[in-house]
Amino acid sequence: MTVSTTALPQMHHVEFDAGLISRLSQSGPRYTSYPTADRFSESFSYRDYLHAIAHARARGGRHPLSLYLHIPFCDTVCYYCGCNKIVTKKREKVVTYLGYLKREIEMQGKLFVGLNHVEQLHFGGGTPTYLSDEQMVDLMNHIRRWFQLTDDDKGEYSIEVDPRSVSAERIHRLRKQGFNRISLGVQDVDPEVQRAVNRIQPEDMTLEVIRAAREAKFRSISIDLIYGLPKQNLQTMAQTLSKVIAANPDRIAVYHYAHLPHLFKPQRRIHEADLPSSDAKLDMLALCIKRLNEAGYVYIGMDHFAKPDDELAVAQRQGRLHRNFQGYSTVVTG
Ligand code: SF4
Repeated sequence: MTVSTTALPQMHHVEFDAGLISRLSQSGPRYTSYPTADRFSESFSYRDYLHAIAHARARGGRHPLSLYLHIPFCDTVCYYCGCNKIVTKKREKVVTYLGYLKREIEMQGKLFVGLNHVEQLHFGGGTPTYLSDEQMVDLMNHIRRWFQLTDDDKGEYSIEVDPRSVSAERIHRLRKQGFNRISLGVQDVDPEVQRAVNRIQPEDMTLEVIRAAREAKFRSISIDLIYGLPKQNLQTMAQTLSKVIAANPDRIAVYHYAHLPHLFKPQRRIHEADLPSSDAKLDMLALCIKRLNEAGYVYIGMDHFAKPDDELAVAQRQGRLHRNFQGYSTVVTG
């Protein structure tokens, strides 16, 4: 993929170069976050961490933080999944996990006293909405006790939502609990693809969550898609894109499915014969880029697209776009 700013001044227009992609085709780390987890090193010790905090304190000034909270629980397993997760129906496991998480929040909060202003907060998973409402309220209160969240709704406070796990009322409650951005896992709307990956998610369910998120005035609604899944082809991808574009989300992420069954056990349940070929995957990616461009989405970078008036696209035009461990952002955080 090459990126140029010549055809559309102020906007990144994507030119798809399948030949270049084929020539550079080789395995690399999964860039869902950066630096990727397998690049973390023991050579950065706890002492180094304390030293970095002391250094920030000594420098003075403002050092807003970015917090990521991982809620690893899921009700059922999606076969393509490569996330760090615990698939269980035993809800009591959450209680133990939350106990440890709250202790960790308190420990970190104590280290960052006076430097604890949080401009970016992200709940990822797993399925963050696996937590009950009461557990979510309690956790958010605990975060507010040890860290300073903005009261003016200006921070980027986001949550990943599995549309299969929430009602419209729950979406409204998440907004009241302080979240102002929402990201929905969709992956593909085709029923046969959904069956092949064990993620049955009727379209209406997704649309209902989007409707509720708009009503609740979430500042940004994002949809995640995946190309390269079993039973996918150009036709299913075209239908998925039409439906997702019609739903009009502010952001769309299009991830590549990496089939690594030796690393991720659930992927062993995917029939390899159902996987699209490399060429078919490239065609699907080209189609995604073409359709999203035509629909007016701006290419942000990596797998991300946003509407021209979305904060990410505005920040990109103004040269204020940043990338940190949690992905693209309009704020600089520590
Ligand atoms: S894709 Fe999401 S919902 Fe599905 S198993 Fe993985 S973490 Fe859970």
